[in-house]
Amino acid sequence: MKNYQDIINNIYKKLKNIDDPGNVADYIPELGTVSADNFGVNITTTDRASYGIGDYNKKFSIQSISKILTLTLAYQIVGEKLWERVDVEPSGNPFNSLLQLEADLGKPRNPFINAGAIVVCDVLISHLKNPKEDFLNFCRDLCHSSDLQYSDKVALSEKKTGYRNTALCNFIKSFGNIKNNIDDVLDFYFYTCSIEMTCEELSKVFLFLADEHFLCQKGNHILTISQAKRVNAIMLTCGFYDESGEFAFRVGLPGKSGVGGGIIAIHPDNYAIAVWSPKLNKKGNSYKGMHFLEQFTTDTESSIF
Ligand code: GLN
Repeated sequence: MKNYQDIINNIYKKLKNIDDPGNVADYIPELGTVSADNFGVNITTTDRASYGIGDYNKKFSIQSISKILTLTLAYQIVGEKLWERVDVEPSGNPFNSLLQLEADLGKPRNPFINAGAIVVCDVLISHLKNPKEDFLNFCRDLCHSSDLQYSDKVALSEKKTGYRNTALCNFIKSFGNIKNNIDDVLDFYFYTCSIEMTCEELSKVFLFLADEHFLCQKGNHILTISQAKRVNAIMLTCGFYDESGEFAFRVGLPGKSGVGGGIIAIHPDNYAIAVWSPKLNKKGNSYKGMHFLEQFTTDTESSIF
């Protein structure tokens, strides 16, 4: 049995004060108000042992990490038909790019870039009675906690400045791949991104991708084993946009980042680990978060490869 607490303590100490060339995202003005010094890590193993260090108990905006949760709920509801609306190929482009949509006739490359997540939100709106409420309840059930909330501040801040997402949504609608009202889809998308969680909560929520025992909760199947495999596969190939290859190369785990500075990574059959450090590298992924996870899988010799 590895001493995870000692391992994360040591890496944390080593990285806490390194020179971090990244920048806190401020294109969503409300995210720019978060202190760059936050740094937290939490790992939860499949036997439910949990180890944290630093700001692991502080809530932050999970942003694109929510794309795994919207995908999971949509996949649960519509099954394989989902792939008629969104593809499963790495984009090799930034998360908010419009470039490939023209050639791909409005079918986003994958559900983890903004275009793909917006289509997934459209699918959810078509199937949920009260999309915001139902999605939040889905997340609360996964977390076994009613203490999860959207941040109105962050969602509204993004709504005011979300020009690219508005462009993406309109562009996809022009190809017929958005079925609902543009404003409703964007509002739902911005809210899903604004959910706040701690590293500890994140590493617990995502256990369902680490161990089949967590795939069934309260008698309900979240996903089948085969579907969970597929979500992990998309995380490995697409979870970090045009840095997905680099993350697989350095860390060797399926994972997903958000512009709030969080990263979740999964070691199937072993653990889920969440890291939070708000300064982002040029590709929009947490600079220190990537370093931490690289060091962690190196020290524990525990990647999937
Ligand atoms: N809400 C953010 C956006 O749409 C999410 C991006 C991210 O976390 N990479 O720009």
